[in-house]
Amino acid sequence: MTPKERMAECARRGRFLAASCSKCSRTNPCTARFCPSCGSPDSEPVEMEGTGRVATYTIITVPPAGFEEHVPYAFVVMALDGSDLRISGFMAGISAPADLPVGSPARIAGFDERGIILERT
Ligand SMILES: [Zn+2]
Repeated sequence: MTPKERMAECARRGRFLAASCSKCSRTNPCTARFCPSCGSPDSEPVEMEGTGRVATYTIITVPPAGFEEHVPYAFVVMALDGSDLRISGFMAGISAPADLPVGSPARIAGFDERGIILERT
């Protein structure tokens, strides 16, 4: 499996696949080829709980081609619990900022052609 396929498999179980740097132990996204901190290419996969808080987001009301059936939705950046990692994902049914205050708890709810699916908790 490619790193993206492994990440998708984890997301379907509600978890996030990260990579722990073998040299400096920093936690990075599993798609990072080199540690942004020390530059090492060596890492070990580590599964993290897919829970966190909404850091920021963009509400999409005019969708790109192929996403018409999904509007309105939000493209959300979520800060994962227990790390300084931020991940991005798709959250359905968000049409106004009142629907999703920054800091709202959220979790990974799946993975499909849109990418990581997030939902409020
Ligand atoms: Zn490192």
